[in-house]
Amino acid sequence: MEIEAHLYIPIKQIKVDKSEPPMALIAPPPAAEFFPKLIHRSKSVPCHLYTEQRRVIQTKTSIKTTHHHHLLKRHALRIVNAVVEGGGQARILLSDVVVKRPKEVYKGRKWNAKDLTTAGVVVAMHLLCGFAPFTFSWGALSVAVALYVVTGLLGITLSFHRNLSHKSFKLPKWLEYTFAYCGVHALQCGEPNNVGDLEKQPFYRFLRRTYVAHPVTLALVLYALGGFPFIVWGMGVRIVWVYHITWLVNSACHVWGQQAWDTGDLSRNNWWVGILAFGEGWHNNHHAFEYSAKHGLEWWQIDMTWYMIRFLEIIGVAADVKLPTQTHIQRMTFPPKT
Ligand SMILES: [Zn+2]
Ligand SMILES: [Zn+2]
Repeated sequence: MEIEAHLYIPIKQIKVDKSEPPMALIAPPPAAEFFPKLIHRSKSVPCHLYTEQRRVIQTKTSIKTTHHHHLLKRHALRIVNAVVEGGGQARILLSDVVVKRPKEVYKGRKWNAKDLTTAGVVVAMHLLCGFAPFTFSWGALSVAVALYVVTGLLGITLSFHRNLSHKSFKLPKWLEYTFAYCGVHALQCGEPNNVGDLEKQPFYRFLRRTYVAHPVTLALVLYALGGFPFIVWGMGVRIVWVYHITWLVNSACHVWGQQAWDTGDLSRNNWWVGILAFGEGWHNNHHAFEYSAKHGLEWWQIDMTWYMIRFLEIIGVAADVKLPTQTHIQRMTFPPKT
């Protein structure tokens, strides 16, 4: 069995006995629903890993998690059991979600070069934001908003998430690459999830190798156009804004909102994240129908990314656009209350 190592970075290091039946990740015993939260917060969680026979494969490993835990289920990996250490309990404000706080996620953690770079970039961008009040102009704000749409909608949600990670639709290569290029400028320090697949294409290998050069070039162009204020707003404010919205999808959308589908997890549809994150806030819909290019399934569920995909489909550019199937819809519908 191949483990999709790129979904959970440190899993690569876990040696899995191939004679064992498909197994084993993580889920804390006290409150099963607490786990998705951690996953979606991309934190490293110390836990014990068990196989289906409860044989410990590895203890106190640090599992870095991503948004795409639900994909793991598809890869014969079953969440079995794990003990998450540390922490008292806390109820989240205005929500029925109780979390058990893991202690000392950062203390004692081994920081590798990539962690440090990521942390450095995140801190630097936040520092840039400190200059925002003193450098405000309508021009600078417009640059930030324009780049928010281009990198966030076209780059992250349309390209990285729906096109490349979930393969919800197909685009001609030149356009696929163009949108993926927009995503690089969001500086999320991560690639779309099916990296192995993309690694075969020279274009993505090129992007990976030259990753830093692109945002730096953009920063220089912005500086040439509008000086320091354009850097503050076009890079700092805009990038931090997109960071926080991304984090909202992975946290708020598991805490606040409605569940329209019987997904058996904590994902929710959250209208205000839906607006800010170009449709990604309809997260319960997304958990129910991961492959769907459309996340806002009801007419009133605003989904800017979907409108763009639909437009590309109408003009004959996007093809194989996937939508929830009728049988799948029936399967995900809540049983009638008795
Ligand atoms: Zn989720
Ligand atoms: Zn997804």
